[in-house]
Amino acid sequence: MAGEKTIFKKIIDREIPAEIVYEDELCLAFKDVNPQAPIHVLVIPKQEVQSMAHLKIEDQELAGHLMLTVGKVAEMLGLENGYRTIINTGAEGGQTVHHLHLHLLGGRSMQWPPG
Ligand code: 5GP
Repeated sequence: MAGEKTIFKKIIDREIPAEIVYEDELCLAFKDVNPQAPIHVLVIPKQEVQSMAHLKIEDQELAGHLMLTVGKVAEMLGLENGYRTIINTGAEGGQTVHHLHLHLLGGRSMQWPPG
């Protein structure tokens, strides 16, 4: 998105603090500031992608890397009994920060269906 940096871009650029739990050349994982479970981490690409709907065919490797990173972080955090992964997309999907992010929630039993 043109114009002002998103809050997540500011975290990538270290302009605002975050509790970073994992980082590599393509992505960053940090604790959600308003956790909805005992463990709530956001995995984001360093590349600016507005939402899942904005991923392009050339982002295929990045998209796969993000999914694999969720699994890696879940293992790092000891979520061997399972976890939930959520991607909110657009207004009706409940997306509030316009930088693609994968929610990783764990440490409690999840309910279905989500709201
Ligand atoms: P969305 O609703 O867009 O799927 O999720 C955005 C998430 O970002 C929310 O869970 C919210 O708590 C989290 N969030 C918003 N601002 C910040 C921030 O400044 N720092 C961190 N760590 N998380 C944030």
